[in-house]
Amino acid sequence: QKEEWAKLVNEASVTKDGQHVELAANIGTPKDLEGVINNGAEGIGLYRTEFLYMGRDALPTEDEQFEAYKEVVERMDGKPVVIRTLDIGGDKELPYLDLPKELNPFLGYRAVRLCLEKDDMFRTQLRALLRASSFGQLKIMFPMIATLEELREAKALLAEEKDKLTAEGVEVSDEIEVGIMVEIPSTAVAADRFAKEVDFFSIGTNDLIQYTMAADRMNERVSYLYQPYHPSILRLVDMVIKAAHKEGKWAGMCGEMAGDEIAIPLLLGLGLDEFSMSATSILPARSQLLDLSKEELATFAQEMLNLDTADEVEARVREAFVKA
Ligand code: PEP
Ligand code: MG
Repeated sequence: QKEEWAKLVNEASVTKDGQHVELAANIGTPKDLEGVINNGAEGIGLYRTEFLYMGRDALPTEDEQFEAYKEVVERMDGKPVVIRTLDIGGDKELPYLDLPKELNPFLGYRAVRLCLEKDDMFRTQLRALLRASSFGQLKIMFPMIATLEELREAKALLAEEKDKLTAEGVEVSDEIEVGIMVEIPSTAVAADRFAKEVDFFSIGTNDLIQYTMAADRMNERVSYLYQPYHPSILRLVDMVIKAAHKEGKWAGMCGEMAGDEIAIPLLLGLGLDEFSMSATSILPARSQLLDLSKEELATFAQEMLNLDTADEVEARVREAFVKA
């Protein structure tokens, strides 16, 4: 099997009926790039920038960040690179920010909520991203967006920093796509509105599942409720993809679900455009796609939205589309 996968490193990701989807990788630091390139990723679907801020005692400077972002886009050699702005808080702490302890950190002051308030810190990151944009195909993604106001505010700050840099004579790409993570149910439900104001969506199922099922993703006691194949989750995913396509935008997924062999046939059938996963899942996924027909799965996936339970969905997918 390993040998069969290795042959697919330089191949495109196409289904049995000739449909192309993008298989991209999730990374945490530029050090992960070697694995990404060796496994034939067609892009980076999620660069988690929080690692640049962690394990140190002060914020990273604009130049330090610029160097990291530039390295990633350059080494990806023109392939798309989605860089997510700082998603700190929840389980990821930054001691030097001295944030107050919260009763419910996963529902608290984190990610874009914190960035919009500490806007000096946010602007520094945005400037580093804008400066790196002229070295490859960089896309910017905001995490934990719950309302249109947050999106508009983040976009306004980005536009301000872009104007400043341009006035300073710094080269900034004019083709930067700006998107959001869809990982909060309010955003999935109102995806039709968000789709008018973004260039793309990336569905963050790690959080979307925990918030939809009200089951902490770190808590073993309730892990039985953490159900990626629950019809409610599939319905949200379906809504988000349809909303994106209606506005001519693309929809990806960067949660763990995107690389899962049971989920892949469902997501393909729902019309997902980009699947971003850990590098080691890419070749198995590419191999799996070769045996799947997108057209056939479109009908099947819609049927799955109307089943009662996650177990039924899983059993139906296994029976029809997953080799034993
Ligand atoms: C997600 O929530 O699905 C996601 C990809 O982000 P993270 O796992 O970093 O919260
Ligand atoms: Mg998340």
